[in-house]
Amino acid sequence: MSHSGKQRLDWILSPEPALELRGPGAGLAVGVLALQGDFREHRLMLEGLGVRTCEVRSAPALAGLDGLVIPGGESTTIHKLMTVHGLTGPIREFAAAGGAVFGTCAGLITVAAGTVEGAPPTLGLMDIVARRNAFGRQVRSFEVDLSVKALGDAPVRAVFIRAPWVESAGAGVEVLATYRDRAVAVREGGILATAFHPELTDDTRLHELFIRIIRRRQGEAAAPAGAESRSVGEFGLTASAAGQR
Ligand code: GLN
Repeated sequence: MSHSGKQRLDWILSPEPALELRGPGAGLAVGVLALQGDFREHRLMLEGLGVRTCEVRSAPALAGLDGLVIPGGESTTIHKLMTVHGLTGPIREFAAAGGAVFGTCAGLITVAAGTVEGAPPTLGLMDIVARRNAFGRQVRSFEVDLSVKALGDAPVRAVFIRAPWVESAGAGVEVLATYRDRAVAVREGGILATAFHPELTDDTRLHELFIRIIRRRQGEAAAPAGAESRSVGEFGLTASAAGQR
């Protein structure tokens, strides 16, 4: 075979280069709970950041994921469908095993320890109590520019739709943003939650923060035993913010 012929053959036999996703989320796999609500918007935003995403409707879909997003929608409906689809226990186990979870609006309610109203039942992934429809049923939706400390000087355009707020939070919860003296963006360990809908804007910084949280946790898990890990205060405000217990 001529030299050039062999070269051609090598080229044909060489493995397909893997489709390489680019962006801060490259190499990560994040599921979006797709039972109800605006899960498509979360997927689009994450994929734009290079994250591989999938829609989660059953427990096996959680396998191999680095993170899970619980979207906005209606928390009572999400709770009912999670129960029907056998996802309540598996999502708790996913978080307990180190999986990161990002809840927006109804998702914040879903990850909370409980609600002021006492319903719906919640997953208890984060030491917060949520107040549903907290800004008033009449004022169903509004937008404000919010300063989110972890995200630098430029404010985040926050879209609130029949939003909850964080009525109270445990000492381990980091308050990232407040509005009218109420915590509306919070983090505890690998759980991030916002009362508003970053997925409905084109500002990707909260999803990028979620990616950083995932990477940091994975770095901590890979670090030798005994390595210090700071769980509070890395990304923004601590303690004194509204509602801190
Ligand atoms: N009010 C809804 C609830 O209680 C949440 C609204 C939303 O996710 N935009 O579940």
